[in-house]
Amino acid sequence: DAKPKDSSEQEFKLEPDTELRFEVENPDNKSEKVVLELKSGNAEIFGTELVKDKPYFFWSGAKVAVFTWHGCTLELKGKTDVAYVAKETPMVMYLNVHAALEEERKKSEAEGKRGPIAMIVGPTDVGKSTLCKILLNYAVRATRRPIFVDLDVGQGQISVPGTIGALLVERPSGVDEGFSQLAPLVYHYGNNNPGANTALYNTVVTSLGEVTMDRMRSNKKANHSGAIINTCGWVKGDGYHQILHIAQAFEADVILVLDQERLYNELVRDMPDSVRTLFLPKSGGVVERTSKSRIDSRDARVREYFYGTKTNLYPHSFDVKFSDVRIYKIGAPSLPDSCMPLGMKAEDNMTKLVQVTPGMSVLNHLLAVSFATGVEEDVIRTNVAGFVCVTEVDMDRQTMTVLSPQPRPLPQTLLLLSEIQFMDSH
Ligand code: ATP
Repeated sequence: DAKPKDSSEQEFKLEPDTELRFEVENPDNKSEKVVLELKSGNAEIFGTELVKDKPYFFWSGAKVAVFTWHGCTLELKGKTDVAYVAKETPMVMYLNVHAALEEERKKSEAEGKRGPIAMIVGPTDVGKSTLCKILLNYAVRATRRPIFVDLDVGQGQISVPGTIGALLVERPSGVDEGFSQLAPLVYHYGNNNPGANTALYNTVVTSLGEVTMDRMRSNKKANHSGAIINTCGWVKGDGYHQILHIAQAFEADVILVLDQERLYNELVRDMPDSVRTLFLPKSGGVVERTSKSRIDSRDARVREYFYGTKTNLYPHSFDVKFSDVRIYKIGAPSLPDSCMPLGMKAEDNMTKLVQVTPGMSVLNHLLAVSFATGVEEDVIRTNVAGFVCVTEVDMDRQTMTVLSPQPRPLPQTLLLLSEIQFMDSH
């Protein structure tokens, strides 16, 4: 069949140390597609090198920067919202950070100590996730095997929203997708707002920190490569205290503060001298996201969890009897301290397991499948195997239908109710 003529083909010649920024239109029509090709020279997208003459596809909503250290020619086909070449980028500074981390990694090998643990903090929309990606990609390109820790429960990259996780990075991320995921370590938090239950957030951060440190100790290569930690954009009040807690739980050596000098000054004041705190400017290319685009990207994360990035996964759907499952949520409604049993604090209530009677209240919710097999275990501090989504509830038959990456039956384990909801439109 005849190919439609593409009038929107553009060529860009980039000088050394510049980047092409583009956004793919995001109208209601979800199928907008842009194709990028490197025609000559070298270029990278957030630290991943492009292969010459290979087409890379980007879909509606994508916001991309193609950076070149030595100059290149790029070709762009399809409708873009904006496409321009920027001369001012912070990439040299980001490369210097990578170089400093590399020095620490070499030192750790020479001295037989663990490698640098770097944590990236800053308000929303300053490019924290992007900087993590760049530093991780540069590390693997330098033959390192760093651990990526994502503590952003709203826009995290490892599992579904409402979780925190860690994974070993063994190859650069795909240009149009994230890092490949072999056995990520995931903890259930159950909300996309880190402030919804600070006691629980800090508890799961501590657990992930302990297990991550253990894993580093048992893998020499990862141990010398260190870790890169992404955090939430909540930096005020309790959010700031969460940052201090994270730094402690993960024994951070370096804190990279993006964009906010006030936060930088607070951390310099509050961190021990052994922790190096650095201020970095944000890239002018980072796009501010509306709350709608945040909701859309959370939804896309869940869809991706079940169906894959290119609809290449085939989830199962099956019925589960209410009598065959035990569902719990974490955190009882808060009572004032004066109403609590003697010796108990309101905070303890926030990390308590509360049984949930299966019914309409779980419809469209995600349920975490815990590795814990009973409430006598420390369920909150146990990581999760994965997630199912409740797509139907039948009160007459006392069953629910679940969407699951694994075939039936559901393992004989505990399910933890998440506040995150997903409407399966497939
Ligand atoms: P959050 O508030 O969710 O924590 P963040 O600070 O982690 O946000 P990113 O997710 O890294 O921010 O970046 C926001 C968006 O900007 C992303 O879609 C990313 O692809 C895009 N972006 C980042 N850097 C650039 C750049 N130099 N040019 C164009 N787009 C960019």
